[in-house]
Amino acid sequence: MKKLLFFCIFIAVAMNMNSQTEDFICATPDNTTPDPAGAFSYSIDTTVLSNFDPVVFNVFFWGINEDDGTSTNKLTQTMALKAIAELNIKYNDANIFFKYYGYDYIDSSQFYTIYASCDGDPNSPCFGSTLYVDFPTFINDNPQYNSANAIDFYIPRHTDGFAGYGSSNYLYTVINAGSFEGSPRVTNHEMGHVFGLIHTHAGWTSSNYCEHVTRDKYLPNGDLNPDFNADSAGDWVVDTAAVPDFRNEKCEELGYPYPYTGCPEAYKNAYIDEGTCTYFGDGDDCLVPVAVPYDIYTEDVRNLMAYTHATCGLDLTTGQNIRMRDRIENSIVHYQPVMNTVPSLYEPYSGEYINGFTITDTQPRFQPGFDYKYLTCYPDGGYPQPSDYYDTSFSYMEYVWWYGFYKDIEPQYYNTIIHKNGYAIRIEQLEQQPRKCWNNGIAIGGTVIQFNDEVFNSNVTITSQDSTAINDTELIEDLQPGLYNVIKNYQDGRTEESVIFKENN
Ligand SMILES: [Zn+2]
Repeated sequence: MKKLLFFCIFIAVAMNMNSQTEDFICATPDNTTPDPAGAFSYSIDTTVLSNFDPVVFNVFFWGINEDDGTSTNKLTQTMALKAIAELNIKYNDANIFFKYYGYDYIDSSQFYTIYASCDGDPNSPCFGSTLYVDFPTFINDNPQYNSANAIDFYIPRHTDGFAGYGSSNYLYTVINAGSFEGSPRVTNHEMGHVFGLIHTHAGWTSSNYCEHVTRDKYLPNGDLNPDFNADSAGDWVVDTAAVPDFRNEKCEELGYPYPYTGCPEAYKNAYIDEGTCTYFGDGDDCLVPVAVPYDIYTEDVRNLMAYTHATCGLDLTTGQNIRMRDRIENSIVHYQPVMNTVPSLYEPYSGEYINGFTITDTQPRFQPGFDYKYLTCYPDGGYPQPSDYYDTSFSYMEYVWWYGFYKDIEPQYYNTIIHKNGYAIRIEQLEQQPRKCWNNGIAIGGTVIQFNDEVFNSNVTITSQDSTAINDTELIEDLQPGLYNVIKNYQDGRTEESVIFKENN
């Protein structure tokens, strides 16, 4: 007799995306070197984007503590996993996936705070702790703090003069602990730089690189429009409008010099309505001889690569996603060392495959950020270890699944994302084929019914068995002579019964 039951626990509570409203300064300078000919498609077509195969990047996290290992906001595995989830949620649209590769600490008071710049005075606290010179030198001199196979996130407690830094020249970012923990914006923004995106306002004050408003590549007569430069100026992305640095537009108007450090906070984001993320300024582009007023929509204010309110700038466009994929493809030698395989996403980040029903510390745990569904699977002969990623010969039941997890599961439930015996894993963001069936036939408990008269009647003795007892290979051997029904219960609700008649001998 087989009985199938199922129940589903789908934990879905929206993450608090807006807990941090602190203003955001990124220390990444915009590289205005022209693109190599033919390297980028400049496409904004979603079908072009969907043709890119999945790519997987390892990410490792380093919390930077004081020399004695303390920090007032010490990095935890949960913080690192939250960043992995945020990165996946943002970048899976581009078929870019991230694999949690672990975390560790660097105990260095020298870099507990990292400074954007320093005046050169040896008595200044910034001396020896700068972003562009001292920190890269330190990492270079200490290869144990540089993951050869992962993009590194360095997370000092504080940063001065910036919140985050990332560059397509390097496979690391720097983000202060408050920004790292508080909002996905800075983490996701710096990863955009690692994949070659620059700010949407890049070149906005330069007469050479400033992007023009027009989106018309061709004139009505079919000739190329000489004013169109969306694919060769600004951020080289056609579906992001020509925009100013929203944060500093008024500072520029008032004559404060770049990088506007002397400009009062009151003038920052002066022409942005924070509540609706709309632009109400009257700026214009740099077209000669007559500048054209900006044509800016809320999606431009909401762009991840814009300088805007932290609560607004969260989104990427199709054109940006395609540009990143082109960049990864063009620079594969640069990225290859930190890339991983799609099957790696089906490997747990901790734990091992043993009888996981009672030993909770060693259960195979999976990173958050994907919609997981766990489907009941029945392999021929069983899989004491999960089946190989490429082995899809097991049968599974599409409509019988035990539980799943939404991509934005709350951090307090991260440790519940485990692989349970009896199930294959589907990652909805990747494919519909479930992988890694694990069904080693271990029961979660059971019952031994002894028929005291050695015939099937109601004179019985019923003994409950826990997982250890019911799976004991000597269970049958140890039974006294008699007639029994041994019932095994499985995690997915399956019940297996075996009638045993044990003779005197
Ligand atoms: Zn930036």
